[in-house]
Amino acid sequence: MDKRIALVTGASRGIGRAVAAALAATGCHVLINYRSRQPEANETLALIERAGGSGELCPFDVADAAASAQAIAGVLQSHHRIDVLVNNAGIRHDALMVFMAAEQWTQVIATNLNSFFNVTQPIVKSMALQRRGRIVTIASTAGQTGVEGQTNYAAAKAGVIGASKALAREVAKRGVTVNVLAPGFIETEMTTGLPREALLAQIPAGRFGRPEDVAAAAVFLCSEAASYITGAVLNVNGGVYT
Ligand code: NDP
Repeated sequence: MDKRIALVTGASRGIGRAVAAALAATGCHVLINYRSRQPEANETLALIERAGGSGELCPFDVADAAASAQAIAGVLQSHHRIDVLVNNAGIRHDALMVFMAAEQWTQVIATNLNSFFNVTQPIVKSMALQRRGRIVTIASTAGQTGVEGQTNYAAAKAGVIGASKALAREVAKRGVTVNVLAPGFIETEMTTGLPREALLAQIPAGRFGRPEDVAAAAVFLCSEAASYITGAVLNVNGGVYT
């Protein structure tokens, strides 16, 4: 059988890089999406190739509907299908609501929530037609509990949970599963500068998560073994209260 084709958004570093590497290790050909940091995306590709896997760069801005549609049309033309989609790209731009600029709100919503539509919509039809597909979106504990300073981010992450649950129902009969991972605190660039000791005290597991912890859960949800799991939210958070 041909290799499965997997698109991982925001795969130039952090969780996306680990997901890309882990999917490649299961035999997927991985499309490494990113917006700006090409050298880091190349490092992801090198990591995959050193391990004997295959992939290619696939740069586009997930917040830009037209750019996303154009890039995905190109992928579908050259590879004929996308079997696995991991919506991972995200940003945070924190401020208390009273100090939050409109742009902080719209940028975070565009990148973390509108991207779900921009990237998933052009792909899900082809998955439904081939009666096979896996869609996993990276939300966050913040979308489950709310976190002060993150009304924008929490809204976006709660939004992708609702959207995934609705889409899961729409495509379940077509063999396409739609699930969500909700990580807690994971060691990446996004969490540098956070008050580490104070946060550690709140994590029952006693440590931050590693990108590989999230990647392992993504690989499972993208596997054949997970074909009866859809509309689920799987916490990867070391027991943080949700
Ligand atoms: P990083 O900041 O380390 O990486 C973010 C990735 O997203 C980069 O590859 C970046 O690529 C990409 N990206 C950002 N904006 C865009 C865009 N507009 N278009 C395409 N790619 C984009 O983040 P993490 O790895 O920590 O986070 C990954 C996901 O996990 C995010 O959705 C985040 O919200 C979520 N998450 C993270 C947690 C954590 O503790 N780290 C906890 C819970 C959820 P580039 O800059 O090269 O363009």
